Amino acid sequence: MIVKDEGSVVTTTTLLACRVLHGPGSRHEIPVEIDRLGARQVLLVSTRSAEAAADELAGALGDRLAARFDRPVVHTPVAVTADAMTLVADAGMDAAAGAVVAIGGGSAIGLAKAVSARTGMRQVAVPTTYAGSEVTGVLGETDNGIKTTRRDPALAPGTVVYDAELTVSMPAGLTRTSGLNALAHAVEALWAPDASAMTDALATEAFDIFLTHLPDALADGADLAAREQLQSAGWLAGLCLAQTRMGLHHQLAHALGGTFDLPHAELHAMLLPHVMAFNLPAARHTAARLERVVGSDPVAAIAGIADGYQGPRSLRELGVPREGLREVAEQVAAGPYPNPRTFDADDLLGLLERVWSSPR
Ligand code: NAD
Repeated sequence: MIVKDEGSVVTTTTLLACRVLHGPGSRHEIPVEIDRLGARQVLLVSTRSAEAAADELAGALGDRLAARFDRPVVHTPVAVTADAMTLVADAGMDAAAGAVVAIGGGSAIGLAKAVSARTGMRQVAVPTTYAGSEVTGVLGETDNGIKTTRRDPALAPGTVVYDAELTVSMPAGLTRTSGLNALAHAVEALWAPDASAMTDALATEAFDIFLTHLPDALADGADLAAREQLQSAGWLAGLCLAQTRMGLHHQLAHALGGTFDLPHAELHAMLLPHVMAFNLPAARHTAARLERVVGSDPVAAIAGIADGYQGPRSLRELGVPREGLREVAEQVAAGPYPNPRTFDADDLLGLLERVWSSPR
């Protein structure tokens, strides 16, 4: 674990070049964007939840559609990527003429990144959740249960399309957990050692927008104005993820998710209030920013959102064996990564026990 070096004065922020189309209906501009990129062959990756939008795009692309893949899997298993690569090879696609378009959550976008990493093809990402992968140069891939993450600006999609109409189908549970996943990026950006005025602004605004508009989206999932706001918050939070080093929350999510193969957004949602309660006493700058938005108790505000989730709300309910927690605690305590508070494996075991046994 690394606590910010107080003597350090130089911080580097890498800004990724990205063209963003946004607004309801912006997906209809994708064929124009494909032409702008000079691509003549498209691999279309989509999840089942985005089938209708993918069918519509396939029709609009006409003979520019070279192949379709509709079975992306969470955490980007290399065996699934190999199946998609077979389609790419069979269609004779290459970096000069090809592009990959992903419509769906982080699983679809992760697969598109993996294909692009292997082929050099340009990417158009069309997110339908708030996970934020579309604006990062980060790719996590799994092989035989082991997850390897790499960061490279070349992995980031060159075009992102934020069409809130594609998010109205999110059930209330996914809206809540995916939103908390985005908020975890924002909170960790605030206490990151490489935080800047820019990431502070992005994170605080993401937090504010999300907490203001979530109730409307939960009351009426088809409320397009609220959905646009939440999608914007997800965008800002994704930029936080891209531009700062994530700390304890993401390390725990990574270790738990990789060890026990857990659902991504649900895991982030149950962890966040616990990690905030653990870290905020040692992160005054972060606490002060969050208090400006929600008042005196940011942990209670986030716990209140997490508590409304109707699905699993503890590691026990997700089926994690209690005796497996120590190994995760030791793995995460070994670091190195940045975090505002120092701790050892026993401290982390106590934290994990709390996430295991009950909602906060
Ligand atoms: P996901 O893409 O796995 O989707 C979760 C479920 O929600 C799926 O069943 C999907 O079909 C459904 N779904 C998605 N959009 C929907 C919609 N609009 N309406 C109804 N159902 C919908 O989940 P996710 O949380 O978006 O992404 C998780 C994956 O993304 C993980 O593999 C994670 O590692 C990765 N991720 C990567 C980064 C990065 O920067 N590399 C960032 C965040 C997440």
